[in-house]
Amino acid sequence: MSELPAAPHDAELPYAEASLGELRLAFAQHLAPDGRTVSVTGVCPRCSGRTVSEFAYGMPGVGTKAPWPFRARRPGGVPDMVGGEVLFCECGHPHPAMPSDAVFVGCGASWRVRTEQTGDSPS
Ligand SMILES: [Zn+2]
Ligand SMILES: [Zn+2]
Repeated sequence: MSELPAAPHDAELPYAEASLGELRLAFAQHLAPDGRTVSVTGVCPRCSGRTVSEFAYGMPGVGTKAPWPFRARRPGGVPDMVGGEVLFCECGHPHPAMPSDAVFVGCGASWRVRTEQTGDSPS
């Protein structure tokens, strides 16, 4: 585990639904002990807050239209959530001007993480 440089969380950053595209970020995923939740942790590229996104795993009928993306299985059988899902800032801090009906408590940023599986060939 490599620690990222500790940029301070910009708690004063106004909320904005910003799609940041595909970024090369250090995010890690962990399968919960009960095997039903994959949590993806990292640092939000917009507000620098520590964000944790949880995805239901192996639970039918969680409300998404698309079936579970099995395209990027890992050796343990857990899909690559880091590279396979759009991540939203869930730093847990209600940023200024955050709408009360916001789905995720954070700065409103969303992004995809470019991983070895999804990125272009390493140079
Ligand atoms: Zn954020
Ligand atoms: Zn934040």
